[in-house]
Amino acid sequence: MHKVSIFDTTLRDGEQAPGFSMGVDEKIKMAIQLEKLNVDVIEAGFPISSEGDFNAVAEISRKVKGPEIAGLARASEKDIARAWEALKNSPHPRIHTFIATSPIHMKYKLKMEPDEVYERAIKAVKFARKFTDNIEFSAEDATRSEPEFLIRILNGVIKAGARIVNIPDTVGYTTPEEFSKLILFIKSRIKDAVISVHCHNDLGLASANSLAAIKSGARQVECTINGIGERAGNAALEEIVMALKTRKRSFQCTTEIDTTQLYPTSRLLSSITGVEVQPNKAIVGKNAFAHEAGIHQDGILKKQSTYEIMKPADIGLPSNSLVLGKHSGRHAFRTRINALGYEFTRPQLNTLFAKFKRLADKKKEIYDADLEELITEEFYRVNQMYHFESANFAGGSDMIPVATVQIKINKKSYKEVGYGDGAVDAVYNAIKKMTKKNCRLVHFHISSITKGSDAQGKVTVQIEEDGKEATGQSTHTDIVIASARAFVQALNRLDMKNRLR
Ligand SMILES: [Zn+2]
Repeated sequence: MHKVSIFDTTLRDGEQAPGFSMGVDEKIKMAIQLEKLNVDVIEAGFPISSEGDFNAVAEISRKVKGPEIAGLARASEKDIARAWEALKNSPHPRIHTFIATSPIHMKYKLKMEPDEVYERAIKAVKFARKFTDNIEFSAEDATRSEPEFLIRILNGVIKAGARIVNIPDTVGYTTPEEFSKLILFIKSRIKDAVISVHCHNDLGLASANSLAAIKSGARQVECTINGIGERAGNAALEEIVMALKTRKRSFQCTTEIDTTQLYPTSRLLSSITGVEVQPNKAIVGKNAFAHEAGIHQDGILKKQSTYEIMKPADIGLPSNSLVLGKHSGRHAFRTRINALGYEFTRPQLNTLFAKFKRLADKKKEIYDADLEELITEEFYRVNQMYHFESANFAGGSDMIPVATVQIKINKKSYKEVGYGDGAVDAVYNAIKKMTKKNCRLVHFHISSITKGSDAQGKVTVQIEEDGKEATGQSTHTDIVIASARAFVQALNRLDMKNRLR
């Protein structure tokens, strides 16, 4: 078995994509989770590109001790010195320098002759070598470079001190067969360096190309969580890792990734960036382990391997998110309810099952969240802890928003004042004071369900406390009132969950 190093570039190539930018604190949080996942290298940023990137790389270098921390730098002394400044406190720093080697990039982007590019690359690696011997060199747009020139430059940088040579398919152009040939060719012409690959997904081939390269001798892959990255994204870390694990005999390669951290890492990234994973995304999508067909469900319950090539627990999913539908029977229903951590008496279960059947007639797929909704609806009706009564608020350009909120807690009325960044924040602070709740707002979404300025606003909130999550939803022509009611509903559901489990 050969070991393949996992080089995660979620915080660099991934973060570069529109809609995925993260603050320094968020990057640190993500880096700590990547350490738990046990990646070999974290590319923490491109230090010269901005103050924020520099600080993130510097902070991560100080705080994250396990994996190597890489910082990106163009092949220039200024870039490399800046990268080193950010990396120097890491126990395992890596300078990652790059220059484009394809005719089209050299001619139009760099406006340099191949000989000049060669000289610059060698000079950069020699300069980086003054700081560390852990140097990676990338030949940008390698898949569109002249193979002989590529070999010349790779041998040059290896001689100058690069330990890892990365072959990026920068524009996502190559195919598995072609890439495999290129890697075999490079392998036969260089020595004393690890071959790395970096694939983009423009043709949906990033994971396939990375895996083809591994079969041909690449021993490091650059990838990102959820496959985020420039344009169509980078190769998805979870796909490569699970392909190697599931088809171990075919690849004869392993990674040191703790696969049970894959799902939690994917979720953390989504919650930080606010970008959900597409439901049918391999490995970490909501539907990746969902089975709707009745025959499949029955099979899975009898023996998991009938329709599953991986176990949900392997990626850290608590249990199989079997989608229930109107064809699902009582057995599947009860199994699912129990798996969610609920225990009910037979009459309670009968009531819930009848409700479930009615819901299944209207809604094709019933997910865990729907079941939890059913359960909380059923019990929350009779046993409501909090009841919204009224909210008044004032705000504007020149005043601190203030709200007075009245709610009933256990049938007794309370009134409280709250301040905040805005009316909704002020209302929430007042409610939190009264309920003495220390919950976190995970998600807040507002949409209008009719047209015009008097439209009804629909507010959905998701809150979290001690690892338990609950959602609330409300509709009102005043969005602040809708927000308050949705929040109170979420609190009730959270309370219900705490009491039921
Ligand atoms: Zn890239």
